[in-house]
Amino acid sequence: MRPTAAVVTVGSELVEGLRIDTNTAVIARALAQRGFSVVEAVSVADDTEPLTRTLTRLTRECSLVVTTGGLGPTHDDVTREASASALGRALVRSAELEALLQGVAGRHQDLRAAEQVLTQADVIEGADVIKPTTGTAPGQVVALDSGATLILLPGPPTEMLPMLQAALAKFPVSSAEPRELGVVGLSESDAQVVVQRALVGVSDVGFTVLARPGDVRVLLIDEGIGEDALNALAAAVATALGHHCYSDDGRDLAQVVVDDAVLHQTTFGFAESCTGGTVAARVTSVPGSSQVFVGAVVAYANEVKASLLDVPPGLLAQYGAVSEESARAMAEGAREALSVDIAVSVTGIAGPDGGSPEKPVGLVWLAVATAEGSAAVEKRFLAGSRQAVRDRAAATALDLLRRTMRSIPLNET
Ligand code: ATP
Repeated sequence: MRPTAAVVTVGSELVEGLRIDTNTAVIARALAQRGFSVVEAVSVADDTEPLTRTLTRLTRECSLVVTTGGLGPTHDDVTREASASALGRALVRSAELEALLQGVAGRHQDLRAAEQVLTQADVIEGADVIKPTTGTAPGQVVALDSGATLILLPGPPTEMLPMLQAALAKFPVSSAEPRELGVVGLSESDAQVVVQRALVGVSDVGFTVLARPGDVRVLLIDEGIGEDALNALAAAVATALGHHCYSDDGRDLAQVVVDDAVLHQTTFGFAESCTGGTVAARVTSVPGSSQVFVGAVVAYANEVKASLLDVPPGLLAQYGAVSEESARAMAEGAREALSVDIAVSVTGIAGPDGGSPEKPVGLVWLAVATAEGSAAVEKRFLAGSRQAVRDRAAATALDLLRRTMRSIPLNET
C-alpha cells in the first residue's frame, strides 16, 4: 500500500473562480513521483473555521498534507492559525524570522501593517522553517506524532515551487514519468476497453483516459512497476491500439504530422471549409512547421471554392458543397493551387443549423489528393456541438494526412 497524500489550496479567489489553481497539479505530480497516492485535492476559502476542519481531517487520514496559500501578512491569511489549531499546537514567534522580516516591516508607515508583516514569523510549535526565496512568507514542515507530515507553502507559484522542492527533499523520487499515448479516431470508452484488456494481469501501474473532441490521451502511471516495465507496457498498449495510436511519447497529432512530413520531405496544405482554418492553425502552432506546411485555402463560400480551388460551379450545384465530389475537387484544387505533395480537404455541416435528412449536422467529407492520381475520399458522421464537430473534423484531416504519409489505409483500424 502506497502512503496517501492530500493537497489543500487556500484562497477565496480560487474557490470563487477569480484565479485558476495551478499549484495542485504541480504538487500532485511531485508527490506521485515520490511514491504517494494522492487521494484528495481541495480548495478552501480564506476562512479559519472550514480550513481548520479540513486540516484536522486530512492530517488524520493522510501520511502527507501539503497546503499552499494563506501564509502572507494580511488579515485573510489564516493558514498558520488554522494549522496550529488543527494540530492542537501553539504558534511561537521566531526571533530569527522576526529579525529577517524587520526590514520589510520597517517600510510600512502604519504600525498595524508593520505588525501584520511580522505575523509571518509565527511558527507552529516544533515545525521546521523553509526560508523564502522570492517572497516574504516562510514555509513550514511539521512532523506529527502520528508519523504524518504537514507542509505549509505560500500561494504564488514562483514562491511555492522552490520551497516545495526543499520541503520534499527527504522523499526521494521513486516513480517514472507517466507515459502519454495519443489516440485518434477511437472514442474515450473504446480506448479505455482496449487499454484495460492490454493491462489484464499487470499490477503496479495505473491508467487514466483523458478526452477532448477528436483527441484521446491515455496516461500510464508508474505505481511501482518501474521505468523499464512502464516503457515496455506503453509499447504493448500502443500495439493494442493499432493505427489509432499516433504517438507514445506525449506529442500531439499536429506535431506528429509535422515530424513525419519533415522525415519524408513531404510538403502539404489544406482546403478548409467547415473548419475555417483550424487545421492550419493547429499545424502552424508547431515550431518548424514552415519546413513542410505551405498553406491552406479557407474556402467557405462556394464562389471561393470555384475561384481559388477550381471546383467547377456545375459540380457544386449538382452535388452540393458537402459531398464526395466537392471534397475530391477541393483537395485536387488545393494540391494544384498550393503546389504541394499532399493536400487534404474538409467540407461538412458543423451545425447547429443547415442539416437535412440526407445531409445531417455532423456530416463531413474529407479527401486526400496526392501525386498518385484521383483523391481518396472519406465520409464521417461526427458528433457534438458546432465546435466539437469542427475540432473532430480538424483532427480527422490531420489523421488522414498522417495515414497517407505512413501508407496506412485511411479507414483501417
Ligand atoms: P503572499 O505572501 O503573496 O500573500 P500567500 O501564501 O498568502 O502569499 P495567497 O495570498 O493565498 O498566498 O495568494 C497570493 C497569490 O498567489 C494569489 O492571488 C494567486 O495569484 C496566487 N496563488 C495562490 N494560490 C494559488 C494556486 N493554488 N494556484 C495558482 N496561483 C495561486
